[in-house]
Amino acid sequence: MNTRWLAAALLLFNSCVLSADQIRSPSAMSQSGPLMMRLIASSVTAANRAGKIIRDVMSQGDLGIVEKAKDDLQTEADRSAQRCIVASLSRQFPNITIIGEEGVPSDWLITHGDPEILKKKCPDTLEDITEEDVVVWVDPLDGTSEYTQGFLEHVTVLIGISIREQPIGGVIHQPFWGGSSEDGAGRTIWGLQGFGIEGLPPIPRTKEPIPLIVTTSRSHSNSLAESCLEAMKPEKVLRVGGAGYKVLQLLEGTATAYVFASPGCKKWDTCAPEAILRAAGGSLTDILGRPYNYGSNVSRPNRSGVLAAPTVQMHQALTDLIPEHVKTTLKD
Ligand code: AMP
Ligand code: MG
Ligand code: MG
Repeated sequence: MNTRWLAAALLLFNSCVLSADQIRSPSAMSQSGPLMMRLIASSVTAANRAGKIIRDVMSQGDLGIVEKAKDDLQTEADRSAQRCIVASLSRQFPNITIIGEEGVPSDWLITHGDPEILKKKCPDTLEDITEEDVVVWVDPLDGTSEYTQGFLEHVTVLIGISIREQPIGGVIHQPFWGGSSEDGAGRTIWGLQGFGIEGLPPIPRTKEPIPLIVTTSRSHSNSLAESCLEAMKPEKVLRVGGAGYKVLQLLEGTATAYVFASPGCKKWDTCAPEAILRAAGGSLTDILGRPYNYGSNVSRPNRSGVLAAPTVQMHQALTDLIPEHVKTTLKD
């Protein structure tokens, strides 16, 4: 095992995931409550509806695949899920900026937020945000390659909320979790800075050594990304689809690092996963350890790769393991 990683992980992993239950307020909040809670509540219901659309397209059998660019597919499920999310959020919050991966018109509508989330207390620091402060990054279907190839567990719906350029809140919906039949299919995880996350139990604490298990791209790797992984000497490498699914692996403890030394991910891939990971005590940055900016005018590609871990300390240990030639190649 890589000894530098082990030292950091052993000492520091026990800081663990914040429990939202510990800071939940019993006071009820109406539809006219703080914008942040209404936005998260509506993002959850929109993501759940989009997940049903994604399952329906799969069960109908004609995916309507279009190749947008090399190694970049779009299906009827991407298009329809995006319509559902963008139309639903823009109808309820007309002055927020919504940036979605797919450019399509809108006609599916969800007009209510999740009532359970509306009852929760908004963190004080987010009480006063206005619609003009908000940029929502939507990836209606993350893991399209895997969707077309039947790796359905890798598929997620991502809605990330950035406030003044920072990833503050996010929703990851996994439409095929628990199977592809309608009964009980799908789960939704959401998180908010100052609140914590809901939808996943905290990772159990352990005194055992924590192995370096890296999760990385299944369908978009290249020689630079591979040379980075080789130099890090991980105990195991998991190759799965989607930024959303990889961050879920970190949050569940299946993987202990997300490493992708390549420019392919976009802001809509990382905004929601990063916000949730941060709310749980973790960190996601570029491969050099620098944070991404989620303002409306930033360039869409995450040109300098992705590096993420379930705690800030493990993330710091990871940045020290990235070889200099990789950092130099991906530095702007
Ligand atoms: P992956 O880990 O390969 O599943 O990628 C995570 C997200 O980034 C997915 O939405 C991919 O479509 C996107 N992505 C990563 N690399 C590329 C690439 N070379 N071309 C297009 N999209 C990419
Ligand atoms: Mg994606
Ligand atoms: Mg997508």
